[in-house]
Amino acid sequence: MENGGGGLVVANGKGEAEGRRWRFKPNERLAAVNQQSIRGVLDIVGSNLNGEDGRVVIQLGHGDPSAFESFRTTSTAEDAVVESIRSGKFNRYPPSIGLPAARRAVSEYLSKDLPYKLSHDDVFLTVGCAQAIEVVLHVLSRPGANILLPRPGFPLYEARTTLCGLEGRHFDLLPDQHWEIDLEAVESLADENTVAMVIINPVNPCGNVFSREHLEKVAGVARKLGIVVIADEVYAHLNFGSRPFVPMGAFSSIVPVITLGSISKRWVVPGWRLGWLAACDPNGILKQNKIVDGVRSYLNVSSDPPTIIQAAIPKILGETTKDFFNKTVQTLKLTADICYNSLLQIDCISCPHRPEASMFVMVRLDASRLKNIKDDMDFCCKLAKEESIIVLPGSALGMKGWLRITFAVDPPLLQDGLARLRSFCHRHKKN
Ligand SMILES: *Cc1c(COP(=O)(O)O)cnc(C)c1O
Repeated sequence: MENGGGGLVVANGKGEAEGRRWRFKPNERLAAVNQQSIRGVLDIVGSNLNGEDGRVVIQLGHGDPSAFESFRTTSTAEDAVVESIRSGKFNRYPPSIGLPAARRAVSEYLSKDLPYKLSHDDVFLTVGCAQAIEVVLHVLSRPGANILLPRPGFPLYEARTTLCGLEGRHFDLLPDQHWEIDLEAVESLADENTVAMVIINPVNPCGNVFSREHLEKVAGVARKLGIVVIADEVYAHLNFGSRPFVPMGAFSSIVPVITLGSISKRWVVPGWRLGWLAACDPNGILKQNKIVDGVRSYLNVSSDPPTIIQAAIPKILGETTKDFFNKTVQTLKLTADICYNSLLQIDCISCPHRPEASMFVMVRLDASRLKNIKDDMDFCCKLAKEESIIVLPGSALGMKGWLRITFAVDPPLLQDGLARLRSFCHRHKKN
């Protein structure tokens, strides 16, 4: 019906008159993206929670421990932000690639672990590591191109790959080889349209760190294939086992590396939305191939991290003391051990690798030992309903039959959550 006379057309509750054709609909790629987001899957799991339970809901599904007192950020970072606000100097728009002083601070921070020095020109500030992922994938997404992604991995890569029209191809991380990359698979998946491979190190979701030797092999394979390595190091330095963290940029004389990171995890401030993208490229290959120009162009037309936080970055990165870092890592080590030891006592769950980094562990679920549990998704939905705890089904990460458990939780709450998990498994056990 036309609204020709200027009066209101009153909705009749039965919808529009037939025959009207609206010309809009959502981007078809978004249908796939919903299954490719952790938040989407956790929403489905969470919709099973029983509001009558009376017990506190325990979140072992996502990696944001900022709500817990034992993971409170350092006062150095808080003071830096307060000072930045009070100065009155940072209420303006920042330059699209970031404040020069903040870029310099990030380049110095990253250079400490590299065999050469990054320049502030190599660093671009982003709205968390999440926007750095968006930027790098869009810049590389020429028609027909494909990209190699880890499985299990971080679903934002799948979602962004889909949205920008890249083709994602998956190589496995091998549970029985310390979750190392299946490098033979990397070689066999690649073809002349492959532009990049993604590694996440320390590994979300597996809780391991790659050795120096393994990373060097990654560099060799990528060089042979002529592709760039995108290194997501958002969990850098959150390792607590015997193996050190080595940044992929250490091998950038072999192959160009684009390092992604943020303050979200190491400083436990994911809400501050400050991340970066660094071109680790001593041979100038990314510059020659216009990738750095592409990053600048993309950032010119997207939103920036808040100027207030950017201005606080030199102090946050430069003045945070070892005490804070040590405390966080010790807490993670404690909670990882609580988690691992308690999972060992559950029959239907097996854990191929004791976590030594990040905030997560991947475990195999043997649903055949349980009554009335179809698969990992069913397990997590019933667990939410009966025990008020949230765990991420492995299907969300391309690993049907697995679960990802977050141990970055206040220790008493984590113990409570794991006890509920144990009693759920016990109750559903087949005789
Ligand atoms: C949390 C996370 C991100 C996103 O980091 P933000 O800085 O919060 O945007 C990116 N990659 C991985 C692997 C993560 O776990």
